[in-house]
Order: sequence, then C-alpha cells, then structure tokens
Amino acid sequence: MNMEFMTKSWPELEELIKKNALIILPVAQVEEHGPHLPVGCDTYIGTEIGKRITEKLNDELPVLLMPTVWTGYSPKKMTKWPGTMRVRTRVVIDLIHDILSSLCDMGFKKIVVIDAHGQHRGMLEVAIREIADDYNVYCALTNPVSMMAEKFAKIRKSEIGGATHACEYETSLLMAMGFNIDLSKATDEDKLTYKSEFYVADAFGIKKVFLSTWGLQESKSGIYGAPLKSSVETGNQLLDEMIKNYIKFCKEYWELKTV
Ligand SMILES: [Zn+2]
Repeated sequence: MNMEFMTKSWPELEELIKKNALIILPVAQVEEHGPHLPVGCDTYIGTEIGKRITEKLNDELPVLLMPTVWTGYSPKKMTKWPGTMRVRTRVVIDLIHDILSSLCDMGFKKIVVIDAHGQHRGMLEVAIREIADDYNVYCALTNPVSMMAEKFAKIRKSEIGGATHACEYETSLLMAMGFNIDLSKATDEDKLTYKSEFYVADAFGIKKVFLSTWGLQESKSGIYGAPLKSSVETGNQLLDEMIKNYIKFCKEYWELKTV
C-alpha cells in the first residue's frame, strides 16, 4: 500500500490520525558533493531511507512518509562550487518548526525526523524542543550515520579522515541506490588530517567538542574524505544496517509512552 502523505485525502488522513500513525519526515539538502556525486545526494539518501523504512513498517504499524525537505543550511564556503543552496539557519529552524506544528495541529503525535544532512543537527534540536514545549509532542531526531556507524567502522576501506563529505559512505550509498557514479572523477586528495584527543576529523571519529570541518582544512575538490574505495557492496551493507536499526527504533518509539 502507498503510504505517502501527499497521496492521501483528508478523510484518509483523519483515519490515520485516529490510529496514531507514525510520521517519517526526511530533512536533507541540495549542495555540492565533489566532482563525482549529484548535488541532490543528501536528498536522494534521505528519501530512499524514508521509503524503505515506511514500506517495511507498513506491515506492522500505521505509518506515513512526508515529502523530503530538500533544502536547508550549508556553510558559505561551499558556494565556491555551484549547486549549493543556502537557507539561513533561523529560517531552517522556523521552517521545520512550522512543518512539525502543522502535523501536531492535525493531531499526529509520533514523528521521526531523518536528519540526512551533516549541518542541521542544532537547528533540528531547537525546532523539536520548541514543539515539545508547545504541544507536549516529543519528536525523535535520528541520523542515518548513527544508524550504521558500528557497521561502517568494521567494513570501511578508507582510513580515519576518509569519511565526512562526498566520501566513502555517501558514494557507496549512491552506488547501491543505482546511481551510475564515475569514480575516475573523484579524488582522495581531500582526506581529512586533523586528529586530537578531543576531535577526530571524520564523521565517525571522536567528537568531544564541536568544530566545523570547513574551518579545519581547505578542500580543493568539494570532497572531505577518500571516496576512491567506495563500492556497491559497502553501500548495500550500510543500507541494510540502517534500515534494520531504523525499523527497530521506530517500533520502540511508536510504543513509547511519553509523559
Ligand atoms: Zn551529503
């Protein structure tokens, strides 16, 4: 059954609200992703994860997939390459807040946000906290990277510093999703090198403090990492792991009694 929010009529939505349907909301971005990946990379990944988990969950609980929020904030430095949209941070907070508050006004109470872009976390947390205060609805903020981090640590071919942006995991995911990626256009020269006991520059490295990658090292290609060893096989394993963990978490969250 199609569980896309946009395909439903209002009486169908009314039924789903009565059943306390779980809302899946991917939030992504359109920005440069090096010379070898499409600028829609994050939006494609967020949408694919949303579709896969909605299809699987649909056998077990009422669920609806929202259209992916396709644009948001990226640092100004990324406008060095074409393809990067820039919505101001405050606008992102308000936009996400108002999407969530519209859903809460309709009567939805369980909302899982898929944060498919590296720079939105703080903004999404603010919007979600405000919604909790206004509606007593506790949305869940999830991140695909966290849902496969342990797996990736075991199977990655790049060394630490090889996986942050347009890197091994993003390239592998797109390859597994059927995109035809020409790795001869990619490079490993923009691998990250910063490493200390507080911060390791890699999406899967130690982060005791927050620092933006874009201030640590100049990228020549728009890549931060080492995508040359990306593969369909790595991408498939990461997708399977993410979907497995998302399904497990979504069931737990749907049954969770908030106070
Ligand atoms: Zn990305």
